Amino acid sequence: MAAGFRCGFVQPRRRTCSMVPAAKATSSSRVAIIGAGFAGLGVCWNLLKLVPSVEVDVYDAHGVGSGASAVAAGLLHPLNTRGNVTWRGVDAMNETLGLLREVEVWGQGEVFYRQTGVLKRAKDAKDIERFERIRRERENELELRVVRSSTQSLPGFIYTPSAYAVDSPRYLESLRAACEGRGARFRRELVRSLKSLRREDYSAVVICAGAAVGTIAELEGKFPLRLSETFGAEVDGAAPNLHMVHPEDHSQLLPVDPSLLGQCYVVGQPGGRAVLGALHSNEPVAAEDAIAGRHLEVSRGSGLEEDSRMEEMGRGVVGKAAGLFPGLLSSAGLDRVHCGVRALPPKSEEGRLPICGKLGDGEWYLLGLGARGLLYHQYLGSRLARAVISGDETALPEVTRRCEKK
Ligand SMILES: Cc1cc2nc3c(=O)[nH]c(=O)nc-3n(C[C@H](O)[C@H](O)[C@H](O)COP(=O)(O)OP(=O)(O)OC[C@H]3O[C@@H](n4cnc5c(N)ncnc54)[C@H](O)[C@@H]3O)c2cc1C
Repeated sequence: MAAGFRCGFVQPRRRTCSMVPAAKATSSSRVAIIGAGFAGLGVCWNLLKLVPSVEVDVYDAHGVGSGASAVAAGLLHPLNTRGNVTWRGVDAMNETLGLLREVEVWGQGEVFYRQTGVLKRAKDAKDIERFERIRRERENELELRVVRSSTQSLPGFIYTPSAYAVDSPRYLESLRAACEGRGARFRRELVRSLKSLRREDYSAVVICAGAAVGTIAELEGKFPLRLSETFGAEVDGAAPNLHMVHPEDHSQLLPVDPSLLGQCYVVGQPGGRAVLGALHSNEPVAAEDAIAGRHLEVSRGSGLEEDSRMEEMGRGVVGKAAGLFPGLLSSAGLDRVHCGVRALPPKSEEGRLPICGKLGDGEWYLLGLGARGLLYHQYLGSRLARAVISGDETALPEVTRRCEKK
């Protein structure tokens, strides 16, 4: 790779100054962030909090939140697909929650998150026993309850009240407004190469380009990320069958709230909407196609081949989600279909964790948020901001820095 950016963002000669106090930054420090999704905005907000005088330019090809973040269903919780607590899951969720509260004032009075709790469905009776073990092991850390059902087809759930439904587009807009309010500049530009930014004399460049990172010439094929085209759907919340079991008294039905997880998910959003996911296509995806998420209003279908494919995938999502609970969604109408590309990092002992580290002089990255962008963008965004300011990679968790780059 060609020479890096002007290094020594704060103190060029000190190599191990972790968490350098904000006062040490110079007013001439300039940082470029590529990508204005959860990752890029999270890093931006934290940089500006640590060093209010820093100048931050956020580049995004399509404006704020156009990639996977724009189509995220909005589930924020610390459980993995097996109902276990993910790596640093509880801390990460609390840190995201802190950020949601901080930027709330920038949301023009709009409510963009609410506590819903989440129910993770058990596959069988063995799963229920496993959930019981998880509950006991985690009882000092997270409130978990195991809900048993008397029917064989629905053995029960693990339930945590500490889960949130976030309206992703509104949250992104509030976070953008918060960053702008602190002085960030948003530049609607496609960054074709890191070289093209060098003439701007940035102290550091932070790459948060999500699944489209390969559109940046020097980074094509560099990171071990698998791209997965993912479809979600929105249904009309007024449908009578949009109900589910009460977490404590399963003879009672509730509207979809809490959110429901199994092989797929159902998230209740404001206005009676329910967002469902997800189906993944096996078709190869080019980095260019990952730059912007796609949306289809089903009633306004254009007849284009691509739109018919989206509608078909949307109907597939509803069918899959309906299997989570008997009778769920059976008469719900499909309103919208969303499609985005997730960047999946390799599996580690701790599961699929985002990758975050230093690439070269003054070059940093936060990528591979996979299916957990909301959970990890603040946890890693705040640590990455500290690393960028101090120049010290060890401000980042070791496990996120381990990825093999080409
Ligand atoms: C259907 C679906 C549902 C999901 N639901 C959830 C959920 O409920 N909860 C959850 O936590 N996660 C969910 N996810 C995952 C979540 O959306 C991602 O983890 C997260 O959005 C990744 O954020 P990011 O900032 O890394 O990438 P992105 O959001 O993709 O942002 C990258 C940005 O970089 C820009 N960009 C890329 N290349 C360039 C370039 N060369 N020049 C300029 N700009 C560039 C793009 O325009 C884009 O705006 C879902 C994903 C999908 C697809």
